[in-house]
Amino acid sequence: MRKYVIMGVQGSGKGTQSKLLATDLDLVHISVGDIFRWHVKNHTKLGAQVRRLVAAGELVGDDLVEDVVSDRLHLHDWNYGFVIDGFPRNRRQTEFFLESYDIDGVIHLDLSDDEVRRRVLARRLCSRCGMDYNLIAHRPEVDGRCDVCGGELVTRADDTPDALARRLADYRTKTDPVLELFRRKEYVLTIDARADKASVQQTIRTRFGLPPYTPLPDAG
Ligand code: AMP
Repeated sequence: MRKYVIMGVQGSGKGTQSKLLATDLDLVHISVGDIFRWHVKNHTKLGAQVRRLVAAGELVGDDLVEDVVSDRLHLHDWNYGFVIDGFPRNRRQTEFFLESYDIDGVIHLDLSDDEVRRRVLARRLCSRCGMDYNLIAHRPEVDGRCDVCGGELVTRADDTPDALARRLADYRTKTDPVLELFRRKEYVLTIDARADKASVQQTIRTRFGLPPYTPLPDAG
């Protein structure tokens, strides 16, 4: 059983690195942001509660987030473990999490604000299948269309300069201190997230003593 938390500012590659780890090691990737986006897209009651906050890049209230995370972890579909991404994001969420779960380590992807702005504002998402693109590092073959399903590529509602500035400020004031809390109890591994995704993944594997990463031909 392997249980990890992945932390890093928006655009640091948390989602990408979590998916690479999860697919290969049979871990469940739990992205709290993805859970909220799913509810917004499917017009659920929870979606209606969080829609405005998610679109504006503001944090959802702790009670609601903690319920979502508890419900998700209580499904117990993570026989080999999980990588949780986007949670915890502040002191209270960290204390709540540490009371209930022992984890094997925290993967901290480190990236400067300038690099975050450069990456995030180039990010696109397929409106049909959810595949991620980046106009700098991973352009679609046909502008504006998904290579996999042909769906229209859109910008995440919270990837605008204003919303990003708000998320960066929140991250630096509320989430950076979470690392200090974790450092007292857990193994925190800080990785320079400027490297390409395969190198970052390999570093994570080496530093946590995990099986080496063998990239697929298109996973460069
Ligand atoms: P993310 O994809 O992790 O950037 O999350 C997208 C949005 O979901 C955030 O901007 C928040 O509105 C909400 N969200 C995700 N995780 C949390 C969390 N741990 N606490 C509060 N809000 C969250």
